[in-house]
Amino acid sequence: MSARILVVEDEDRIRQFLQRGLTFEGYRVDAAADGQTGLDLARENPPDLVLLDLMLPGMNGLEVCRRIRAASEVPILMLTAKETIEDRVVGLDAGADDYLVKPFAFDELVARVRALLRRAQPTKPQVYRFADLELDTGTRQGKRGERSFDLTAKEYELLELFMRHPRQVLTREVIFDRVWNYDFGGESNIIEVYVRYLRQKTESDGQTRLIHTVRGIGYVLREEA
Ligand code: CA
Repeated sequence: MSARILVVEDEDRIRQFLQRGLTFEGYRVDAAADGQTGLDLARENPPDLVLLDLMLPGMNGLEVCRRIRAASEVPILMLTAKETIEDRVVGLDAGADDYLVKPFAFDELVARVRALLRRAQPTKPQVYRFADLELDTGTRQGKRGERSFDLTAKEYELLELFMRHPRQVLTREVIFDRVWNYDFGGESNIIEVYVRYLRQKTESDGQTRLIHTVRGIGYVLREEA
């Protein structure tokens, strides 16, 4: 079961951005535009993590933070446009576990979210499975049927992205963002090269193709009917 994240943020644009992005990452997301609604949601559906904006209309983020903390040990990541040390200290005093200053990069946010969730519930290494393909996040090895194979760092990241989003078409832009983390020149064929490496490793016993090209768009992990 994926982790449930409660987003409390009054700015529609940012709240929707967070909701879309975190849903894409596989989290279940509840969202509230004000503190009271956030508290109500936290009671109805206890979240595994709270993303909490500091500046909220009505009850501010610090008060929301104190009230959530009074009732629960759930990790709280505060979001704020302010950057001063005082705000940071006050936020942490109110029971927040971490602090992220706007504007933030989505990848940075996801990294903090993962770190907080890991700390909260120390999890065993995970094994992703799709069809007869496996990916072990502990050993960072892949397995097709009974045959294990090693992966380079980038091959691992790319295969993990596919395994976390099975049957979902991943555009070249998404793959660049998630695996290479920067804007790549449009002429680069680096994704094609790495997909070819992964196909060699996953199909080397003549197995069926699992990583398919979606012409003009990107790639998808799926079984052909
Ligand atoms: Ca705000």
